Amino acid sequence: MLRVAVDFDGTIVENEYPAMGKPLLFAFETLKELQKRGFVLILWTVRTGKLLDEAVELCKQNGVEFYAINSNHPEEVFDTDTPRKLDVDVFIDDRNLGGFPGWDKVFQTLCPNEPVQIAQKKVLSRYKRKGFIRRLLGI
Ligand SMILES: [Mg+2]
Repeated sequence: MLRVAVDFDGTIVENEYPAMGKPLLFAFETLKELQKRGFVLILWTVRTGKLLDEAVELCKQNGVEFYAINSNHPEEVFDTDTPRKLDVDVFIDDRNLGGFPGWDKVFQTLCPNEPVQIAQKKVLSRYKRKGFIRRLLGI
């Protein structure tokens, strides 16, 4: 199954580093849908210590727990022979060439055979119920 490294600031939340930004639209919904499909998610962030704990906790509160954090495996021990680059299939990062494409695009790219974008649909129907779309459009 695909291993995916996911950046935090600017990717899962708006980049307010070292403060905590607001979650990006569809971020957690998409990550949860990817996990349901067996994708292995690794958090890949510059955060350490307390700032890292806050990020991990926010993800947990939103239903996303990572297989590993800043490492290939939970129990990985780093030494001089351990590459610093993660051994993953895909990196999701707002500093990619071309910038961050958005979580809808991430889902479409990683799950090209999905007939519907389940995560997005769920969120949109929630917003619709709240009249969010109507207010947004001013109708
Ligand atoms: Mg970033």
